Order: sequence, then structure tokens, then C-alpha cells
Amino acid sequence: MSDYYSLLGVKRDASPEEIKKAYRQLAVKYHPDKNPGNKEAEEKFKDISHAYEILSDAQKREKYDRFGEDAFRYGSGGGGAGFHDPFDIFQEVFSGAFGGMFDEMFGGASRSSGGARRGRDLEYSVVLGFQEAADGVDKEISVRRYEKCQECSGTGAKPGSEAVICQTCGGRGQVRQSAGFFSIARVCEKCHGAGRVVKDKCRSCSGQGRIEAVRKIKVNIPAGIDTGMRLRLEGQGEAGVSRGPAGDLYVAVTVKDHELFRRKGFDVHCDLTVPFTRLVFGGEIEVESVYGKTAIQVPAGTQSGEVFSLKGRGIKRVDARGSGDMYVRVQVAVPRKITEDQRRILKEFERSLVEKESSLGEEIAGKVKKLFKQPTAGTNKREAGELGKRAGHR
Ligand SMILES: [Zn+2]
Ligand SMILES: [Zn+2]
Repeated sequence: MSDYYSLLGVKRDASPEEIKKAYRQLAVKYHPDKNPGNKEAEEKFKDISHAYEILSDAQKREKYDRFGEDAFRYGSGGGGAGFHDPFDIFQEVFSGAFGGMFDEMFGGASRSSGGARRGRDLEYSVVLGFQEAADGVDKEISVRRYEKCQECSGTGAKPGSEAVICQTCGGRGQVRQSAGFFSIARVCEKCHGAGRVVKDKCRSCSGQGRIEAVRKIKVNIPAGIDTGMRLRLEGQGEAGVSRGPAGDLYVAVTVKDHELFRRKGFDVHCDLTVPFTRLVFGGEIEVESVYGKTAIQVPAGTQSGEVFSLKGRGIKRVDARGSGDMYVRVQVAVPRKITEDQRRILKEFERSLVEKESSLGEEIAGKVKKLFKQPTAGTNKREAGELGKRAGHR
């Protein structure tokens, strides 16, 4: 798909009104109901609807401006990454603009073929723990939706009887009427667009063919999912009307924070406090990663605030193509309490620092008056937080 802005024929800084206006004009032009059997028009209609869906939403538009179309692709391959049905988008835009006019212009159904209508899409949200999102998890959600009536298999007719073709509209579900300068199709009042009428109604669904039910649905959430992503469960939305296809179910995900790990995409950042001596001597330090223990190699003389990266130790990518990286920032832990023994040793160490510095001072300053600053043990004169300096160590 080409650039969303050029699809709609607007500039990159177009206002929301300009975008809406451009979409409206194009949507009417390419709507499949206006171009029966024209595949090219249908594709174009889908493309501009997707473009409009993104650009009409301030947040999505910003994301698109920054990351391009990839911002809306996740999951492996399947199903267009949570776009809404283009017909729903169309309906939303036009129902606001024309009031009831839209329904009448297009026969009351977004995809009207003999009254069949696609079921609505539904959206539910789930909140996941940090680890659940990292590992992937099966979640059960309760969804209230219209389902096909089992009793009558969705026909609305009492088992044993049949729905008959509506006499008023001849099964088309709509009646043409001329209104002013153009002719409009009205939803047939007799059959409400279904094209068929039921004489003996199914008792289970009162002839509706659908029944409202609360259904528990297992959602298989892939490892690596993050806040803001949506899963699309095809055909799990509401049942269609008059043999129309079912809508889709979207599951929006929010991931809770972790007390230790901070997530940036699939990368994980964390802080690790270690005793001063560990950084002085260097060596291996064990660290906790999202998927278990690992270790970093710290060279002797490492400064507080240095960051070590562990390649592939971040969160599993949701498209299952490897993992992000992990970044560990080491910080000096200053003991709040020390024993008498430790105090003695540290005092001695401190004295050794003073002596070293004073001999250095004499060399440099020569005869100039000396002014000593007494450093305290463990003082780190360099700025903490030199990010990324040691990146690459494992
Ligand atoms: Zn009818
Ligand atoms: Zn029924």
C-alpha cells in the first residue's frame, strides 16, 4: 500500500477536516455498492478506509508519521493487524454526515446482498502482568455478543418451516424510490432488509436468527505482546444477519509495569546495585533477566552508572523472530551500616588515597601552595550514568 497521505490525496500537514473531506469524496467514488463487481475499486476502497482510519486518529497518525506502516503490523502474517472493517469506517463517517441518509442511500446494510449483513466487530481489553506478556498466555474473556441461533440455524424460521422470499421487495431487501434528483434504495419495511420473511417464527430467537449470549472465549496471547497492541480473532465478533458473515473480535492489550524491569519495545532495561568492591575488582556478576538468571562480565575499575548490554536477553519478539536486548546499569551500593572492622579497613584505604593524592599533588604543584581536598571513601568523581559505554560486554 502506498503512503496514506498520497492515497487520500492530502498533504502531510492536512487538518483533520481536510482528511475527512478527502476520505468522503473518495469513499463515495470507490464504494463497492457504486462499483458492482469492480475489484479494483473495492481494493481502493479498502486502502483509503485504512488510510483514513489511521490518519483520523491523532495517536495513530503520530505513530504512522514516526514509524510508517510497520507501526500497525505485528503478529505473524495474518490478517492486517487489527484494522477495522472498511465498511464500518465508512458507515461511521457517513452516518455522522448525512444522518439517516446513508442507510437509505446504501440500502441499510454496509454489504447488502439480498439483505445479508456482516455482524459487528467487537472490542474487548485485557490487562496482563509483565511476565505473562513476556511468556505469552492463554486468557479467557467473557464476551457478550449475538450468536447464530442454533435452533433455527440462523434462519429465524421455526424448525420444519422455511423463510419465504419477501413479496414486497422480491428478496432484494430494499425498495427503490425516487427522491428529488436521484433514486434511493430504502430498506424494505416488510422484511427489514432480510429479503425473506418468516411465517412461523423460531421460538428460541423470536425470528431474529440470532441470540444474545455471553460466551467465554479463550484468547491465545503470543509472547512479547505489549501495551497498545490488538489481537484480531476472525469471525468471533457478532453473528451476521441473514447469512451474512460474522464480525471479528479485537482484543486490546495493556501490560502492567514490573518493579525491576522497564520495557522499551522488546528491549528490557534494569538497574543492578553491587558493592563498590565488585566494580573495583571486576568479575562475573549474576543478574536476573526476564527469562531467568544470567550473568554479566564486569571489567576491573568499572564506574557506577555504566551500562552492559546482553544481546538477545530481552523480551521475545511478538513475531517470534528472536528477542530484544537487555541493558543492565550497574550502580554502587553504599552500605548504610558497617562493622568496626570494616570501618578500620576503610579508614586505612581512605588514608592510602590521601597519601597517593598528596604525592601526586607535590609533583604537579611544585612550590605552589598546596590545598588538599579530603576525598571520602567511595566517592565517584566521574559523572554517573555514562550510558552505553560498555555496551557489548556479555
Ligand atoms: Zn422485503
Ligand atoms: Zn432461532
